[in-house]
Amino acid sequence: MINVTKSYLPDLEEYTNYLKGIWERVHLTNDGPLLRDLEAQMKDYLGVKHLKFCTNGTIVLQLALKALDITKEVITTPFSYVATTNALLWEGCTPVFADIRPDDFCLDPTKIESLITENTQAIMATHVYGNACRIEEIQAIAEKHNLKVIYDAAHTFGASYNGRSILSYGDLSTCSFHATKVFHTVEGGCIVTDSDEMAEKLHFYRSFGHRNDDYYSVGINAKNSEFHAAMGLCVLPKVPALIEARKRVFGYYNDRLDFSRITRPTLTPGVDYNYAYYPVVFESEEVLLRVVESLKAQHVSPRRYFFPSLNTLPFSVGHQPCPISEEVSLRVLCLPLYPDLAEEDVNLIAGIVNEALIPSGVVY
Ligand SMILES: *Cc1c(COP(=O)(O)O)cnc(C)c1O
Repeated sequence: MINVTKSYLPDLEEYTNYLKGIWERVHLTNDGPLLRDLEAQMKDYLGVKHLKFCTNGTIVLQLALKALDITKEVITTPFSYVATTNALLWEGCTPVFADIRPDDFCLDPTKIESLITENTQAIMATHVYGNACRIEEIQAIAEKHNLKVIYDAAHTFGASYNGRSILSYGDLSTCSFHATKVFHTVEGGCIVTDSDEMAEKLHFYRSFGHRNDDYYSVGINAKNSEFHAAMGLCVLPKVPALIEARKRVFGYYNDRLDFSRITRPTLTPGVDYNYAYYPVVFESEEVLLRVVESLKAQHVSPRRYFFPSLNTLPFSVGHQPCPISEEVSLRVLCLPLYPDLAEEDVNLIAGIVNEALIPSGVVY
């Protein structure tokens, strides 16, 4: 079975060495020494000022909305994982969907302004597949209309834009360290900011709003544990090598796939990519379904990602038409991509895809 992703696991001994320390200290969670060490190492690796390690990549989106006092309308992307929209709905905000760019599938800045009302407070955009949004254009609109910018940067660990981590942009930027992501801590996530004041606020929000007997604000439990931090400390030093290995697999696909019938999203100029996903776009959903069926028959499991377009969610409140996102989400498929995916396996997958592109029964 070849799955769309496969989590990297460090040497068991390396992980158990950290566990020995936990057993000695009997400090399992609550701002422990491994968590602090991981936060310091991540800040160093990413070159960012403040970073709070939290329990997952969804709660950090909720923390971002709370920390910026966002309660009304937020202009957001329909092309993301459902967590982006869920965070808005869960916090009682109103998602307003603006369509995506047809080339890189990130929020289209030219679609934002016509949706701004007196209730609009923020823009929440996703850096799709680890590629950067049009950051300067979004920032200019935000400044003109006095809006906050939150980036769901769940895909971007290890990717940079104009020489800086993509996580360093926006008022607040969040990442996921779920087991399926480029860097993982089993479950986990972080929120990044340049602002000292915001970092202080997030520190309290992350742990019930208090420090010892001093109660400052409302808060939630978004703290992560020493066990998750230990996994992060094992995986983080391997990230550059893991990205290199992903890049190799990426190259095999580029060499083998038949691009006369497949297109691929583009990268924003200035991005140094992390090879997080390998999305391909087919001519129609019919072709996509045929490819999926052929792959499944050979025990290969790709993923429709992102699907469906979030403006079509039945439980959501925002249903602005987004024809590009709706169309792309029907035709895009992420092929398996992980560091130790073998060249033979990519050959097999690319062969199945190329063959399924042409309807059977067609005689040349
Ligand atoms: C993975 C992901 C999330 C959610 O992260 P979790 O850590 O699983 O909660 C949110 N947004 C995007 C774009 C993601 O890919």
